[in-house]
Amino acid sequence: MAKLTYFGLFALQHRGQEAAGIAVSDGRQIVVFKDLGLVSQVFDEQTLSSLRGHMAVGHTRYSTTGSPTWENAQPTFRTTAAGTGIALGHNGNLVNTAELVGRRLPDGARDGRARMSATTDSDVVTGLLAESATDLGVEEAALRLLPDLSGAFSLAFCDETTLYAARDRHGVRPLVLGRLDRGWVVASETAALDIVGASFVREVEPGELLAIDEEGLRSSRFAAPEPKGCIFEYVYLARPDTSIAGRGVHSARVEIGRRLAAEHPAEADLVIPVPESGTPAAVGYAEASGIPYGMGLVKNAYVGRTFIQPSQTIRQLGIRLKLNPLREVIRGKRLVVVDDSIVRGNTQRSLVRMLREAGAVEVHVRIASPPVRWPCFYGIDFASRAELVANGLDNEGIRRSVGADSLGYISQEGLVAATEQPRSRLCTACFSGEYPIALPEEAMVGKHMLEDVTGTPCGDSGSVVHEATGSRAGVPVPVSAVPSTRSSPAYGAEDALSRP
Ligand code: SF4
Repeated sequence: MAKLTYFGLFALQHRGQEAAGIAVSDGRQIVVFKDLGLVSQVFDEQTLSSLRGHMAVGHTRYSTTGSPTWENAQPTFRTTAAGTGIALGHNGNLVNTAELVGRRLPDGARDGRARMSATTDSDVVTGLLAESATDLGVEEAALRLLPDLSGAFSLAFCDETTLYAARDRHGVRPLVLGRLDRGWVVASETAALDIVGASFVREVEPGELLAIDEEGLRSSRFAAPEPKGCIFEYVYLARPDTSIAGRGVHSARVEIGRRLAAEHPAEADLVIPVPESGTPAAVGYAEASGIPYGMGLVKNAYVGRTFIQPSQTIRQLGIRLKLNPLREVIRGKRLVVVDDSIVRGNTQRSLVRMLREAGAVEVHVRIASPPVRWPCFYGIDFASRAELVANGLDNEGIRRSVGADSLGYISQEGLVAATEQPRSRLCTACFSGEYPIALPEEAMVGKHMLEDVTGTPCGDSGSVVHEATGSRAGVPVPVSAVPSTRSSPAYGAEDALSRP
């Protein structure tokens, strides 16, 4: 089961690249193995062989609350007063974390913050679950706690005998259920189901809690659904081979490109993508405009996969660490360059300059999302509002800022239409400023809200820890959950997202 979970995490690596972990249960005890780094760096054959069990929860982390420290890697793990364990993986971000931390223990003895070892919203949830699970059992504890969580959460968690999956009532982040020959899988994206050989069954519904054990699968509701799926998943976050709410992400991106061509035509010789996330929209743009499509930029497939910090001299190469122009393709051409989004604008500014240096005579930038003007509080660590290039600048101002000959963004209407979802079922807050989940003031405090200054002391980041807990008998049933967390990009809008 650990190996299956490993490959599920491998399929979801794009969603979080700071840390990875797997918790396995053999029916008697839970063992957690986690560390900073990519899935392939954290786990090797020997480690996976030592993780024995019939049930697992895996996680890849991209931080939105709490520093990228070992303590904050997931699955988080807590023991109940009865000595049993709970391991939990979380994708999303809560907006009422401070209120949850402030809750007293049942005996009112200690402040919530005092019992924290990690500084994440996810660990707060695990702690609260563990506190009430002793009296109520995990399932009932979850049914009582989940309605009180505000924000975005797709969760997979387990005790020694049962796997649980839950999705917030808005279903901001995706979560899907799949079937294996001899078990069940829950994962953030359908692509992960494909990769572990599971067939797609259905999405976990917003406001639904699933429990899977030797008796099979049961479903409960903890809140009435009010879907507000993240529209940025279609633009950038999800893999192109994933489907969300029945809509293929690749098809949605190609359609965005077609609509972009209709909304912002250009006189040009060649359409090139900013690989990889700009590629499907560039294909759509070329198809709809009749302008030939070509590859004008080569991506270094392994950038972002090294932990070696570039020296200042190398850093000055900037975008060239990621993208290199194909001069023989670009020289003398009027280019349409299609990218998924602009956040700070640094990438596009460097890109335009680089393309001109490579001989492009005109550079027309087309963007497969509307201007990002607002921060996200539901699981993406966008730049602060002040850092967003579209904040306070009109289209012409942004064009001048990035140095393009022309600039066109897809409209919000065009983007929504490409997803084939009703607008009422989508979150578009980073484009529209209309936040579907109320934001208490604490939500504005930011990523380090549970840390005294900028972060708790980091543990030995090279260490590997197994945590184990006591027993509860259980009959083995193969089940696995592979949620990845917190969207993290590998490319394209790399400047969009703050990185550790
Ligand atoms: S604010 Fe933007 S990125 Fe965040 S959930 Fe809403 S649509 Fe997605």
